[in-house]
Amino acid sequence: MTGPLLEVRELARHFPVRAGLLGRSRQVLRAVDGVSFELQRGRTFGLVGESGCGKSTLGRAILRLHEPTSGRVLLDGVDITALDRAGLKRQRKHMQMIFQDPYASLSPRRTVDRILDEPLALHRFGDKAQRSRRVLELLDIVGLGPAARHRYPHEFSGGQRQRIGIARALAVEPKLIVADEAVSALDVSVQSQVLNLMADLQAEFGLSFVFISHDLAVVQHVSHVVGVMYLGKLVETAPVDRIYAMPAHPYTRALLDAVPVADPTRRDKRLVLSGEVPSPLDPPPGCPFHTRCPRAMPVCSSRVPRTIDIGENGRPHRVSCHLHDPDIGI
Ligand code: SF4
Repeated sequence: MTGPLLEVRELARHFPVRAGLLGRSRQVLRAVDGVSFELQRGRTFGLVGESGCGKSTLGRAILRLHEPTSGRVLLDGVDITALDRAGLKRQRKHMQMIFQDPYASLSPRRTVDRILDEPLALHRFGDKAQRSRRVLELLDIVGLGPAARHRYPHEFSGGQRQRIGIARALAVEPKLIVADEAVSALDVSVQSQVLNLMADLQAEFGLSFVFISHDLAVVQHVSHVVGVMYLGKLVETAPVDRIYAMPAHPYTRALLDAVPVADPTRRDKRLVLSGEVPSPLDPPPGCPFHTRCPRAMPVCSSRVPRTIDIGENGRPHRVSCHLHDPDIGI
């Protein structure tokens, strides 16, 4: 099949929240608010942003672990958002998730054998003997020996547990894996081992990843395209080389400038990000970043910026900022 593997169209996930005295007033928390992007086969879309910007909710909404409020998700042309329960169950094997804390996501009372057999049995992968062979194959793929199958999660290190989490995600041969802060809890040396494993798996099996992380260095290392999220919206999306070399949105620029560098001349020109992310219960009007933006103009507090493509040579670079809108006349 040609075309992108994953198409996310105007996806939103809102949570109704009770507030006020006695919880009588109702508010809406717009955790994900109209997000669109595409992911090509065998590629990684890196999703970055500060804590609370909606990255994890977006990852879960793509897989329908959170039911989207509106918008569409197409995987290989199949509209995931339109599927009934049975249809969704059938599609689940094509889209899996790796979690931040492998210890919490692996049942402590089950051996690795049972943990890896579970998704195979759920998706009716062969008979018992075939599933047993598949478990050994998976352990081999993620670099754990056959003896690992008889052990429990607590008997492994953090990096090994994440390998088990990856093996479980791979069990039913998915096309897409959403990895949510998958290496954040690991030591730096173990992080690179797990990242290398994911890169090897991508090369070998043509896997596509949505890689969610607050760590811009890690995202740069693994991604082909990067999306920057702020208050539930994608504010900039571009190929990885381009977004790191020429960030167009002041928020992206500030995030990159917050990464420590040794060069003191670069430090002087940095954009400093001040204050906290505003509450998604009450986002600022106009551009949601205007309360923290060092480049904010009067128009920014009243008008929502359009998304403009400033890409070149057929490589899209989308940014939502008035600074790049020719109609604003700056
Ligand atoms: Fe800053 Fe205005 Fe651009 Fe928003 S639209 S990022 S406030 S310059």
